[in-house]
Amino acid sequence: MASIVAHPVVERVSRLAATALDLTLPPRCIGCGSRIDANGLACAACWSRLNFIAPPLCIGCGAPFPVSIEGEHRCAVCYAAPPAYDRARAALVYDEGSRSLVLSFKHGDRLHAAPLFGAWVAQAGAELLADADIVIPVPLHRWRLLKRRYNQAALIAGEIAKRAKVTHIPDMLERHRATPSQSDLGPTARQRNVAGAFRLNPRHADRVKGSRIVLIDDVLTTGATVGACAKVLRRGGAARVDVLTLARVVLAD
Ligand SMILES: [Zn+2]
Ligand SMILES: [Zn+2]
Repeated sequence: MASIVAHPVVERVSRLAATALDLTLPPRCIGCGSRIDANGLACAACWSRLNFIAPPLCIGCGAPFPVSIEGEHRCAVCYAAPPAYDRARAALVYDEGSRSLVLSFKHGDRLHAAPLFGAWVAQAGAELLADADIVIPVPLHRWRLLKRRYNQAALIAGEIAKRAKVTHIPDMLERHRATPSQSDLGPTARQRNVAGAFRLNPRHADRVKGSRIVLIDDVLTTGATVGACAKVLRRGGAARVDVLTLARVVLAD
């Protein structure tokens, strides 16, 4: 009978072992992997390459405007095709400076960066979190979750929920169809790729109705993934669906 409970126990033990290992090895930069002093997470060179997003922003998708303007405005992209979510904000521009950091978190094992990333995203999304009811991550398909062992969006969502004192429901959405990676696809193909991939977890269907939900992902590219999730949440009766990501692509003018 012990085998039934073995999996979570083994997982917890290996996580403890990994933490102990982290403490004995010299700390490494979460961006480039070079050795750093004990108190930091990234080396000075990696820090200096990060571009944090600051106002003025599009009030819809959160894209930074290149010049300062008075009042509240939407960008041309949001005017042309209003997104399925209400508002989106991100901490960092997804560019040469942040790519390795974001990808190492996604595919590597630098999980100790989650609290820092959560703090950055919570700060970028303070306005959206102020009156939010629930924070949820974009889900991974269970096969990918098994392979990767963790959902990077859920780690960030947990940190944000703690900071903003908002309820975190990691399994409110389910990815019931495994989708090929979005990275090589154009905007239309991305939308087709994720259409119908998500559904509401029936156990939480009641919690969606009338709720102001903040959806968390690591990177906002075309918005196809969060758009597909937002549609499902809206159909489930969500009062508002906002999006927070660690980084976002910013189109050059
Ligand atoms: Zn570095
Ligand atoms: Zn916009």
